[in-house]
Amino acid sequence: MPPPRNNGFSGHHIWLFRPKGQRTELSQKRTEISLTVRAPLPIIVCLDGCDGQISSVTKSNIVLTVPEPGRFELVERPYPNYLPGYAVIRTEIAPVCLEGSRIWAEHDFEFHDDPRHLGHEGVGVIDAIHPGSGFRKGDRVIVFQGDHCGQCHSCRNGLSPTYCVSNLPDHGGRALIGIEEKNDSESGGFAMAKYRLAPLANLYRIPDAVDFKYAAACNCSFGVGFSNQEIMNVRAGDTVLVGGIGFIGMGHIISALYRNATVIALMRNPYRRGLLERMGVQHFVDPSDEDWLEQIRALTYEGQGVDHSVDGSGVPYYQEKLMAATRLYGTVNFSGHTPGAKIELSPLHHVIDPAHQLMGQHDVRTRDREYLVRALVNPRVQRMIDVMVTHEFPMSQAGAAFDVQVSKQCGKIYLHTQQ
Ligand SMILES: [Zn+2]
Ligand SMILES: [Zn+2]
Repeated sequence: MPPPRNNGFSGHHIWLFRPKGQRTELSQKRTEISLTVRAPLPIIVCLDGCDGQISSVTKSNIVLTVPEPGRFELVERPYPNYLPGYAVIRTEIAPVCLEGSRIWAEHDFEFHDDPRHLGHEGVGVIDAIHPGSGFRKGDRVIVFQGDHCGQCHSCRNGLSPTYCVSNLPDHGGRALIGIEEKNDSESGGFAMAKYRLAPLANLYRIPDAVDFKYAAACNCSFGVGFSNQEIMNVRAGDTVLVGGIGFIGMGHIISALYRNATVIALMRNPYRRGLLERMGVQHFVDPSDEDWLEQIRALTYEGQGVDHSVDGSGVPYYQEKLMAATRLYGTVNFSGHTPGAKIELSPLHHVIDPAHQLMGQHDVRTRDREYLVRALVNPRVQRMIDVMVTHEFPMSQAGAAFDVQVSKQCGKIYLHTQQ
């Protein structure tokens, strides 16, 4: 008889799992007996991997869907099935990435999401896991997005899981939907749900001193900024110019201030300027000012230009200005996501003449996770995340959360998926 799908019980059966403490003597396969009983509901007695607690067989998953623009539905799905190497996480916070502006308003999907599968950022508690890993049920974890193969260039070199071939469509990867497919699971590959499936390799245990609220900034806000600035080598005393401020730009700003760099914000949104002032940013330049470039240079050492610039907009309006304001041999980071936007680039004039390094990277490199999480213990970082997270909603009010994101009168928005 094949092993049962986890909690995928049907019919009137009793599954008796082997007792706790006998893991080394017994094989990895569960010992199981099946009895037909006259009970209105299936019964499960689980003595292994659940600390002696009786599991609820009625447990299911609740998944956020956006069937059409401006309308969401919470849909009941089966509790996730999970293979060895994966865990089921009870998600507590799923931060909103571009689900508001891209999916809620435009119903525009990328290869890794669709109307019934949303969300990739998140933190939560391990709810189910096979024995033999370094994690335990009840561990609080950050979920770094995507699948993990362990054998590609990215996995072998501690780079971002977004670049693992199991996530890349050009390499046959299927990303988050691929996690569900690989586990033969009808739910759980995505963050905006009560329960989520994730590879153990992309889980990071959260220190007791760090609240979920701060840990949830480790994906597409502070996490992306921190990891990109590790590559850029942003150091104390450097000047970092950030243009087009959304939650990615704010994540970069928190990272730059944590590193004791000087931040200049090139921006116009008054609401978000107010947030940056509360974070401690002192220098603001309006890109529509005629002398915007002179204003920036006047804030840099001997008028050289900024050491690093970061684009959070994804559009040429900011990108061209950021390149122009960066000093010789400086770094230009592209962190903004605007599908379809293009910039005219002359390798001679934009790269060779100024000796600029142009770079960009989705997500957080595996090798940066520990120092990223260490930063969360810093009270100044916590204060800045408190400012960045302007709105928190229960998942049952996801529409209101997405509307706020579309308004741009916000920083980062968190969805509480258990509410
Ligand atoms: Zn994201
Ligand atoms: Zn890989």
